[in-house]
Amino acid sequence: QAKLGGRNRYCFFTARMNEEAESRLRIEGELRRAVGTEQLFLHYQPLVEVRTGRVLGMEALLRWKNPELGAMPPDRFIPQAETSGLIVPIGRMVLNSACLAARRWVDAGFGDVRVCVNVSPRQFQDAGFLGDVRAALGATELPAANLELEITEGLLLAERGEVDVLLHALGDMGVHLSIDDFGTGYSSLSYLERYPFDTLKIDRSFMVGMLERQERKVLVETIVAMASGLGLKVIAEGVETTEQLAHLDAINCDIAQGYLFSRPIPEAEVMALLERGFSV
Ligand code: C2E
Ligand code: MG
Ligand code: MG
Ligand code: MG
Repeated sequence: QAKLGGRNRYCFFTARMNEEAESRLRIEGELRRAVGTEQLFLHYQPLVEVRTGRVLGMEALLRWKNPELGAMPPDRFIPQAETSGLIVPIGRMVLNSACLAARRWVDAGFGDVRVCVNVSPRQFQDAGFLGDVRAALGATELPAANLELEITEGLLLAERGEVDVLLHALGDMGVHLSIDDFGTGYSSLSYLERYPFDTLKIDRSFMVGMLERQERKVLVETIVAMASGLGLKVIAEGVETTEQLAHLDAINCDIAQGYLFSRPIPEAEVMALLERGFSV
């Protein structure tokens, strides 16, 4: 009886593992075919200055609409793009089209608005990455200061020498660097003084229940105080309510991003949003 149960369980897991492996392969195959097509495109979400309501930047967020698989969220396909290496050509396309969009905003008179691009560790470790950034800026004639690269702490665990050289090369070019999902990684805080970061994005998990949970409130306040003491700007991600925003303002958090202001929107709607701005 027990033996049979065990065996069934074994079969069950095997079948499930097969299914998962199959769907991973399927996603990878479809993704490979999607590179360079309009299946992959960007949405943009505003980064808003808390005190003024001014839009300081737009984060480019990758979207994939596949005729077979439907709309696939980045959390499901970015990991696969990473392991397969597809993130390199995809990331290059993201950089190019984000810089092109930002160029249009600059031309329309929004010269202060940055475009923020997510860079995954695998992409960052690619030998051609610095060249890709230069090429995207060159082709679009976007000033380097209008580009911000978002890097997660995971990257900083990689071989230190190369990361060091690359981050400083980007900083010297005038590209802005931010730490994404801050507070969820495992790296030591010493990187905050070692590398030329200028912005820290507090992971959106900290916003959940921030006002109700004293410990979480203290963590957020402490991160904001530490960042400003180090001369870094702070962005709170995942801001959904006016109460959260008021609290962030009270603790001097500079910038907020979240559904309260706007969901990520198609590029065609960005210009109208920049013209409208936000009133706070
Ligand atoms: P992220 O860089 O931390 O991006 C923020 C995510 O939070 C986005 O999810 C955004 O839609 C979501 N978000 C924004 N405001 C709110 C809010 O108020 N409430 C909630 N619940 N969520 C909010 P999205 O677009 O699904 O992207 C997920 C992740 O996928 C990103 O996290 C980023 O790590 C990765 N990603 C997206 N685009 C790219 C890309 O072009 N390249 C790379 N390498 N990674 C990307
Ligand atoms: Mg990001
Ligand atoms: Mg984030
Ligand atoms: Mg995130």
